[in-house]
Amino acid sequence: MIGISFEINGKKVNPNNIGDALENAMLQQIGESIKKSIGSLRCNEHNQTPKVLVKGKSLDKLSIEVSGCCDDIIKKATDKLN
Ligand SMILES: [Zn+2]
Repeated sequence: MIGISFEINGKKVNPNNIGDALENAMLQQIGESIKKSIGSLRCNEHNQTPKVLVKGKSLDKLSIEVSGCCDDIIKKATDKLN
């Protein structure tokens, strides 16, 4: 399972734990679509999954940052997400 975390306006947020139902649904949806595109991705060399950080000043200005064990997996994940 890949790790996805969310950071809004500099604060880590847990999509399961957001009071606002609309924001909650939005983050869940983003998480789901990320899982769909790269959920099965794994580095052949290091046997690691990529990590994804969804961050932005607000919910309508989010960008996606991928980190991982090596440039190869980061590139693969980034390509799939774009
Ligand atoms: Zn690797």
